[in-house]
Formats: sequence, C-alpha cells, structure tokens
Amino acid sequence: MALFVGKCILPRRLRNSSPDYSNRTSPKLSLLVDDGAGGQRPRQELAIVSGKLAAAAAEFLEEFVPASQRHLVVEAIKRAFDQHGSRKDRHKVRLRFLVERVGLEAFRELYREQLDQPVRATQSQNLALRWVREDELPALHARLLRLGLADSQPLVLQHLVACTGASTCRLGICLSRELATAIVSTLSRSGLDLDRLGPLRVNISGCPNSCGRHPLGQVGLAGAVRRVNGRLAPHYTVLLGGHLEEGKTSLAAVKGTIPAGTVPAFIERLLAAWLQSDQRHDWSAFLEAQGEQFAWEPLAPY
Ligand code: SF4
Repeated sequence: MALFVGKCILPRRLRNSSPDYSNRTSPKLSLLVDDGAGGQRPRQELAIVSGKLAAAAAEFLEEFVPASQRHLVVEAIKRAFDQHGSRKDRHKVRLRFLVERVGLEAFRELYREQLDQPVRATQSQNLALRWVREDELPALHARLLRLGLADSQPLVLQHLVACTGASTCRLGICLSRELATAIVSTLSRSGLDLDRLGPLRVNISGCPNSCGRHPLGQVGLAGAVRRVNGRLAPHYTVLLGGHLEEGKTSLAAVKGTIPAGTVPAFIERLLAAWLQSDQRHDWSAFLEAQGEQFAWEPLAPY
C-alpha cells in the first residue's frame, strides 16, 4: 500500500486505489494498495508525501509501512499537521504547505515524533500507555490512583463506548453520552455481578451514523426518533450480537426500537437474563441457544 499525500486537508478524505506509482500527483491523500498483482513488484506498503505543488510528483515519506501500522501513520501525519500546520487561511489549510515550509526531512521527523507518542487513544475510548517497564508499574499505578484514573471497574463498564451525541453533534438525535452515564449508574446500582459479564461491549451512537460503532457492539444502540401521541420523542434502535474478531467479524442485528428513557432498565433486564442463563459465559452462545424470542423477551415491556 502506498500512502500518497498530495495537497490534502488531513484527515478529511482518504482514498484507496490500485497501485499507480507513476502517478504521484493525486490531489488527495490516497492509499495505494499494492497487492503484488502481476508480480511486478513485491507485495509491500509504501508511504508517500508530496512537498510540492499539485503538478509535481509526490515524494516518499516512508519506504515501507505494514498494513497493521497504516492507521497509526495516518493519525501521526494528522497530528503533525494539527500541531505545526496553519488553519488561519483556509486556502492554505493543506499538508503540502507545511511540507513546503519545513522541508520533507523536517516533516518526516515531526510526524515520527507523533508516531512515537507514549499515550494512545484506543477504539474502546480508553488510553493505552506504551513502553512502561514492568518494574515501573507499581509507581505508575500509584500515581494514576492519586489522579482518580486507576479505579477498578467491571470490564463491561470500562468498555462502554459512546459517541459525542446530540449535545455537541449537529447530526445527533439522542444524547448518547448521557445515556452511557445512565447505563453505568443503573448497572452499578443493579446488584448484578458485573464482573461475571466480562468484557461485554455496549456501543452507543446518537444517530444511525456509526461513530459509536454500534453495529459492532454485542449490544448496540443507535439514536432514532418516533412519534408518540403526536409528538416526536427520542428512541434507540437496539442491535444485538455484533462480533469482532479478525476474519470473523459480523455486524449486530437490529431487534427493535425502544424509548430512550427505558434503555438503562432494558439493558439491566437483558444482562440479568443472560447471567441467569446456562450460557452466561458466552454472549453469542446465549443469543444462539436461547433464540431470538428469549433474547428479545426483556424488550417485551417496552
Ligand atoms: S453517531 Fe451521529 S450523533 Fe454520534 S457523533 Fe456520529 S453523527 Fe454525531
């Protein structure tokens, strides 16, 4: 794959295309996927950045980027641009202006600094601290405790993901972050043995867009709106059974729509049903073995 950065505004658009190493004047940030077809070149991934005008050929940023590192490289380039590029003049909000100003070599260093950051945000909205030596762990843990960042929580609460929602997102329908808080509060007070739930993923999006990754949640919730007694009222579409595993990922299935205010109680009832079932160690097995009817039963009151 080649990462081709022309006069792009990062990270607005990425474009995947077949390998065309002769054409490096693409005006957008492009990922050129080299699948080795035709045996013309070994299967590999390359990163390219243009430091020149659109008419000029782009230059290599990296000779080789493995597929597993692709998103990290893109993110590091974006952060380098965020910190060192200019957004004052909208006509100059382009990566190439930064590269032209500092030079390709200096830009390479800037982006590599970002690549090597010791803290990374994870897809489950947690932070990953990198390169901590084992003998430093107790001191680090003590410091995090002092900051209130090391409280032990059941995994189901730690893995709960919510998008920004309607409180700040103009596309949002429902208040997804507030729902996440309500779910945490309800489950914490429920008396359920939450540790037995393991790392169950509950994903919440404030609208049908998937910023909260609800189609991948084992329990997915997507903001919706329904008319009740002639008035529009916030609801959530409920999805169950998303599976996340390399080569075996499958999307959750839509099960129905319930009023937003009833979601925390619904989640509590559903998880209680799972814990009482014979398949309490395996969410997928619970959904499969108990069938649609049983899995959906806790929704009946709503
Ligand atoms: S899922 Fe919808 S509400 Fe949430 S951030 Fe995306 S667009 Fe906004």
